Amino acid sequence: MASEKIENCGLFGIFGDAEAVHKTYLGLHSLQHRGQESAGIASSDGEIIRCYTGMGMVRRIFRAGSGVLEKLSNPIAIGHVRYSTSGTSKASNNQPLLAEYSRGQVAVAHNGNLINATLLRDEYEAHGSIFKSTSDTEVIIHLLAKPRHIGNPGPLGHVLNHLQGAYSLLFLFNDRIEAARDPYGIRPLCIGQTEKGAYVIASETCAFDVIGAKFIREVEPGEIVQLNKNGLDSRFFVTPGTVTPAHCIFEHIYFAKQNSTIFGENVHEFRKNLGRQLAKEHPVESDVVIPVPDSGTSAAVGYAEQSKIPFDMGLVRSHYIGRTFISPEQRLRELEVKLKLAVVKEVVKGKRIVVVDDSIVRGTTTRGKIRALRQAGAKEIHMRVSCPPIRFPCFYGVDFPTKEELLANNRNLEQIKEFLEVDSVGYMSLEGLLECAKLPEDHYCTACWNGKYKIPVDIVVNKFAMEHYQMRMFKDELS
Ligand code: SF4
Repeated sequence: MASEKIENCGLFGIFGDAEAVHKTYLGLHSLQHRGQESAGIASSDGEIIRCYTGMGMVRRIFRAGSGVLEKLSNPIAIGHVRYSTSGTSKASNNQPLLAEYSRGQVAVAHNGNLINATLLRDEYEAHGSIFKSTSDTEVIIHLLAKPRHIGNPGPLGHVLNHLQGAYSLLFLFNDRIEAARDPYGIRPLCIGQTEKGAYVIASETCAFDVIGAKFIREVEPGEIVQLNKNGLDSRFFVTPGTVTPAHCIFEHIYFAKQNSTIFGENVHEFRKNLGRQLAKEHPVESDVVIPVPDSGTSAAVGYAEQSKIPFDMGLVRSHYIGRTFISPEQRLRELEVKLKLAVVKEVVKGKRIVVVDDSIVRGTTTRGKIRALRQAGAKEIHMRVSCPPIRFPCFYGVDFPTKEELLANNRNLEQIKEFLEVDSVGYMSLEGLLECAKLPEDHYCTACWNGKYKIPVDIVVNKFAMEHYQMRMFKDELS
């Protein structure tokens, strides 16, 4: 899905480390693939929280010599990389969101999407609350500040019980970090520990590798983990075992980094298995298997292994183009795709090629690539996709376009083949996808393929969420 506009967010937090802020910076770097629109770090010396956020990539916001990291230097820190799945792309929506309420300061970082945020926000605004951002995350701060929640022992659990949707969250209070995951465990959230014993929380384990921390376990669905001067405490705001998880299997297919372990499995191995399964389901006589890098690479390795067809790099990716470079205009987007993915003519000329990608969303960028491969002299092009056709929008934190824009929404396979201008197309079956997964099949969310949304979304909330999405897209176009 190279160059398609769908992304996510990434979280990192560390407690009780003299280099906490620098390690947060490194952790965010390693999570940059989850969001490239903005980033931020909030840190505490035990009494006062400082926060700095900016638009763009981590290395630009915290560039060497700017002195920002030095000013933030404290032993407790959380950080966030963002892509706006809710709220417009503007600085006031950057995270962590820092606020002051009757109990002091709090900074919040969120990965996911709250489906009832619009309803809650409307309710608060009707009672006079003022919001400073358009992000759904700010609703959580308003909930936290409600007197009826403050008065409760363990107020965070009460707050979380009001949220509907997907959320992996980090809260930085002046003396502690609290990490929470929604009862369905939709987005990943992992716990690690440094050699010196400091606890670390991150969206993916790749962030532990970069700072030399070891993976301990995941934050369980419905669990709140507190990091404080005594170590790590855990409590549940939903009785464990009462909710069947709905892990986003798309994390395995596309979002997460290959060296990460999420939902109990290494991402590269998972994708390789998908490639093997895809080769079994959709074999084709050809001369070379090429991936759409980077997220299609592991599946292409698996496809080549299973089919015994040589693997080669017929497309190479430029890593120096940021997210902001992706143009809303189709014509410019095709030129940008050419910049981002270049064809190696020597690999494809005169060959029958199998192109393996992890997924196809709109299909326009894929078609652009297919045309470039033809121009480079490919004799036959067979498209193989390591997930089923995406037909439904995601309400849980992935910024798919509207249903109407999805390539597979109202096209059959023959029409998709014609649209992509390929000689054949083969998608992974949903059964095959779930067979490759380690956990029981009902432990995953598969709504973008079959429309079965596991988190109850009643008609009213759904209507508001749809309007909210449409409004956001409209605002994005204006800004
Ligand atoms: S709808 Fe698709 S992308 Fe969204 S959480 Fe479910 S599996 Fe993931």
